[in-house]
Amino acid sequence: MARQVDVLVAGGGNAALCAAIAARRAGASVLVLEAAPRFYRGGNTRHTRNMRCAHDSATAWLTGPYTEDEFWADLLQVTKGQTDEQLARMMIDQSKPMLDWIQQQGVRFQPSLGGTLSLGRTNSFFLGGGRAMLYALYRTAAKLGVQVEYEAEVVDVDIVDDRMRSATVRRADGTTESIAAKAFVAASGGFEANLDWLKEAWGPPADNFLIRGSPYNRGSLLKVLLDKGVAATGDARQCHAVAIDARAPKFDGGIITRLDCVVFGIVVNKRARRFYDEGEDFWPKRYAIWGRLVADQPDQAAWVVFDARSLSLFMPSLYPPISAPTIPELAGRLGLDPAALAATVEQFNAACVPGAFDHTVLDDCHTAGIEPAKSHWARPIVEAPFHAYPLRPGITFTYLGVKVDRQARMRMAAGGRAENLFAAGEIMAGNVLGQGYAAGIGMTIGAVFGKIAGEGAAAHAAR
Ligand SMILES: Cc1cc2nc3c(=O)[nH]c(=O)nc-3n(C[C@H](O)[C@H](O)[C@H](O)COP(=O)(O)OP(=O)(O)OC[C@H]3O[C@@H](n4cnc5c(N)ncnc54)[C@H](O)[C@@H]3O)c2cc1C
Repeated sequence: MARQVDVLVAGGGNAALCAAIAARRAGASVLVLEAAPRFYRGGNTRHTRNMRCAHDSATAWLTGPYTEDEFWADLLQVTKGQTDEQLARMMIDQSKPMLDWIQQQGVRFQPSLGGTLSLGRTNSFFLGGGRAMLYALYRTAAKLGVQVEYEAEVVDVDIVDDRMRSATVRRADGTTESIAAKAFVAASGGFEANLDWLKEAWGPPADNFLIRGSPYNRGSLLKVLLDKGVAATGDARQCHAVAIDARAPKFDGGIITRLDCVVFGIVVNKRARRFYDEGEDFWPKRYAIWGRLVADQPDQAAWVVFDARSLSLFMPSLYPPISAPTIPELAGRLGLDPAALAATVEQFNAACVPGAFDHTVLDDCHTAGIEPAKSHWARPIVEAPFHAYPLRPGITFTYLGVKVDRQARMRMAAGGRAENLFAAGEIMAGNVLGQGYAAGIGMTIGAVFGKIAGEGAAAHAAR
């Protein structure tokens, strides 16, 4: 006889834990199946720092109000309207009580630290970071009696007439088991760690992508669900991608390999040519486009170059910059043509219009007469030593996922909705994020839809 639980949750990050806790609190027996070993549990959630929730006034850790309207306006702007308005507005509405709910599950917040992503008003930072947040959720889940199994990858789901009957789990030793459940929550992340799938979508450039998070987010469950008739949402090429240090490991480099110094210098490709306005807008509004910009360059490689004056203006990456006393020598160390880089820097320097440099505002330091322009923070690169960081596209998470309704219930490709299949987090993020990103929204999607999915799954199991 197959084991049977009320609610089966696939995944082990924020979305899965919020779903599991909510389902258990609603009275259901809950089993969480996490593909990763215990040490690596929690997927990309381990790397996070904050979540974006609407709130009416300042709190002990937030510097001012962030209304639902402002949140919606921000989402509309970053997605350029590529969002399901009903779902997005519901999520924003539910993000407000989420700040209390998540604390009731043991998560603690702290004021944001300084740095170039100034999110102190809008985003609540986790005390101790994402891993501490995750541990708090695991502790609460354990206290409530949620069962968790590690190295347990859900590899199949038995769906008959839009209803899930059981799931197949594969263990580390290759054995499989079928587990019956009254309701199922898929919270198993995106497919960003599936290099073949990335290549299908992007072609050969995908070979040069680095994956910022968990190697376990391979989209195995997403593929099964789509193959079995669940409706898809989003585009396989849409994802959150930032420029990270090219020396980062292939997987799991996390936040410390991100580079926030683009606005302070120029960015060149392997021909030592600039290709985009480095000072177009504040970095929090632009950092998420640079992964794609670098992905479009030859060999998906770029270098950010700046001078001694800028070195202390940003949060450093894990790796030291590559430095040299002259630009041609720096080019030599980067493997770029010294004459070409010197010419690019000279041309840029000559185009800089003197102004009052201030990296905290959209200042008047800009270029004139070159393409692409640098709109703000353009200072001649003249003071030795000169520094550079090598850049590669760093994929954070993918947006192609399963389509859901307001109850976080999956929709079927043939029409209608699944009876007892729910989804939360990255695996359904594409419903809200057709493109673009607003910092901290990944965790909001996971927590809000996770709670809704867990409660819905428990209610279904109780029928
Ligand atoms: C470096 C970095 C920094 C980030 N910083 C932030 C931030 O500050 N704020 C923010 O909002 N977002 C941030 N994000 C995005 C954020 O991590 C995600 O949006 C969020 O964690 C997604 O939660 P999730 O539960 O859906 O997925 P995850 O936390 O990735 O969890 C997915 C889980 O599913 C498991 N799994 C995969 N396949 C299966 C399967 N078949 N069966 C069972 N289990 C499976 C994985 O092992 C993993 O534990 C960051 C991401 C990265 C990589």
